Amino acid sequence: MTQPKKKKTAQVAVYVPLRQLFSYSFKSEDEANLVPGVRVVVPFRNRENVGVFVGFGETDIETKDIKAVLDVTPIFNAHLMKLALWAADYYIAAPGELLRGIGPREELKKRVVYKKTGAQPGRLREDKKKILDAVKESLGAQTLAVKCGLTITELDKAAKSLVKSGLLEKREEYYLSGSELADKEKDEIVREKIINPATYTAEQNAAIEKIAKDIEVKNGAITLLEGKTGSGKTEVYISLCKKVLAAGGGTILLVPEIALTYQFVRRFRARFPGDIAVLHSGLTPARRREEWRRISDGRARVVIGARSAIFAPMENLRLIVVDEEHDGSYKQSESPHYNARDLAVVLGGLTGAAVVLGSATPSLESYYNAQIGKYALCRLTQRIDNRPMPAVRIVEEDENGERLLPPAVIEKIMERKDRGEQSLIFINRRGAASRVKCRICKEVVGCPNCSVSLTYHSNGAKLLCHYCGYQIPVPKVCPACKAKELFNYRGTGTQKVEEFLRGVMSKAVIERLDQDTAPSREKAFGILERFEKGETEVLVGTQMTAKGHDFANLTFTAIVSADDYLSFPDFRSAERTFGLVTQAAGRTGRGEKGGEVIISGATGHYAIRHAVRHDYQAFYADEIMARKSTGYPPFSRLIGIMFDAIDEVRLKAAMLKLAHEMPLLPPGVEPLGPVEALIYKIRNRYRWKMMLRGKNSKALHEAALRIEAAVDKNIGISIDVDPYGFL
Ligand code: ADP
Ligand code: ZN
Repeated sequence: MTQPKKKKTAQVAVYVPLRQLFSYSFKSEDEANLVPGVRVVVPFRNRENVGVFVGFGETDIETKDIKAVLDVTPIFNAHLMKLALWAADYYIAAPGELLRGIGPREELKKRVVYKKTGAQPGRLREDKKKILDAVKESLGAQTLAVKCGLTITELDKAAKSLVKSGLLEKREEYYLSGSELADKEKDEIVREKIINPATYTAEQNAAIEKIAKDIEVKNGAITLLEGKTGSGKTEVYISLCKKVLAAGGGTILLVPEIALTYQFVRRFRARFPGDIAVLHSGLTPARRREEWRRISDGRARVVIGARSAIFAPMENLRLIVVDEEHDGSYKQSESPHYNARDLAVVLGGLTGAAVVLGSATPSLESYYNAQIGKYALCRLTQRIDNRPMPAVRIVEEDENGERLLPPAVIEKIMERKDRGEQSLIFINRRGAASRVKCRICKEVVGCPNCSVSLTYHSNGAKLLCHYCGYQIPVPKVCPACKAKELFNYRGTGTQKVEEFLRGVMSKAVIERLDQDTAPSREKAFGILERFEKGETEVLVGTQMTAKGHDFANLTFTAIVSADDYLSFPDFRSAERTFGLVTQAAGRTGRGEKGGEVIISGATGHYAIRHAVRHDYQAFYADEIMARKSTGYPPFSRLIGIMFDAIDEVRLKAAMLKLAHEMPLLPPGVEPLGPVEALIYKIRNRYRWKMMLRGKNSKALHEAALRIEAAVDKNIGISIDVDPYGFL
């Protein structure tokens, strides 16, 4: 049998939320312009759509032609294309949607263009000659009309015979347009005192030398830089950045949340005036487009940004820094579900750029990688000025919930106010989920399979694990100490505490920072700025307050109901709690006055115990044991699958069916669930979830696709690879 003749095609990542590339044929004159990373116009479902040319392929099926090539040079350079396609594949995402999301915001437009054919005109009427001369080589109809003092209709009419006689060609042309910056505002000039360290500490020098060597040999090596707040990590980044700049290279610096790390950005702007581009999701389309251009044409050689900045179009990339690498906000919670910290490591491999992961409290995954030699480890063990870490104290909480804050905390807040100093109160406002806790040993009843707490459901008085689906009736005695003093327990919230404080301290200037008071970056920025300037005396806030700030006059921090964090049904809750306490402590007493921290409501949990002594190594030792015994990362990989539907009954039926008729999964993949999601209903859609656990990411990937294929098409499905806080 003869093979059907195959023809050469163009593979295009069309800007649609579908997880595949599409094949198109093309006109021969376009072939030379098809370079990976250029955008093209393609017919897609009876419409025109934009996509990115990925490469050539072959097919014997019928294909449609690419309509136009939009870019002269690729807007996504070679390594960026590789990174984006790798991410789309690994995170089971739509490549076109991912590329659209990371590129400049531009819209597809069409215009009429007249082009001279080169044929020699005979004698022409004056008005026709004028048009022909004005065209020069080719010109858009709009401009041409203006030039000739005609309306578009008049031009159309006059040009018709020129086209007919073969002197002009009229064609439609596609182009992309985006908004331009209204005022050509320059980089903000930062007048900040620049104190270059006279000398680096021995530990800083060791880190700088090691990483500088990696930068030089372009081996894509990864270094975990572990150091307390104030130990000089940022100065290490600055020193390396300078070296890279001097060698003509580029740097990408990731920070968790731009608005919450404005001090960091300011410091870099002061050091590298004119070289900084800032990228984050809060930019206007015009600003984003401008920053994108400044980076790709080499004007900005240092990019600072939130997670999406990992996709900055930087040429000759030599250094990638991920500050606060443990931070969960590097993981995108909506599709595409990428983790920018992990992509930084991949990008280092693709480009040879040195990768630095910095943190006072490294993620278990990263520290584990350093332990097994995958990453190098550099440690900064001392605070620069040898200022001691603040004293951290644990106090009991009023279990009956009559008082919202322990007396010791209230006392301290008042004392600080009288001294003209500031206080910060952390509360986990997600304290809504109810748990069962023992009054004697203070243990929260947890899942034997997952080391997460069980959540109380009043209908049926049951306790449920939102990870694996394990469920028991509410026990009569404490599983840990056998006491009969179990009670339902529910945390407190920021708003309640704020009101309470206003009641007991009517004269104090109190502000609250959470999703409700600061739904936007600007609001959060404003609240933090007032606190930084000392206008606010007491700030009550959620975790978002802890990130990246330096408050000189902050001398007291309280972490209220710490077990709220610990008993959150997430296998990372101990890690997050340790991080939160350590960070909060690190931000307290950074001025001359020294600081104090009080933690309330904590059990004797090792996360708290070690955080009190600022001992990351000891925490790691305990936590890695717990992960090993429960089999969670870094000892396995996870994929989360969320199902949702408006019809609760139908969803439940589909889930029970899935549980009973689980498709055959590749060996080594363990399904957990399906189980009702912790947040069971969002925007009128009910939610169930499951997790897949295993060691091999290819097998997990395959398993997720099989499950997706097995579930009723009316059920919404979203797949989250390496999920964070998957609830
Ligand atoms: P981190 O990023 O670990 O919190 P920083 O780099 O911000 O630490 O350093 C903390 C403070 O110490 C900053 O004010 C910084 O300017 C200063 N600093 C850092 N390194 C040195 C040094 N070698 N000599 C003097 N001051 C330094
Ligand atoms: Zn469980």
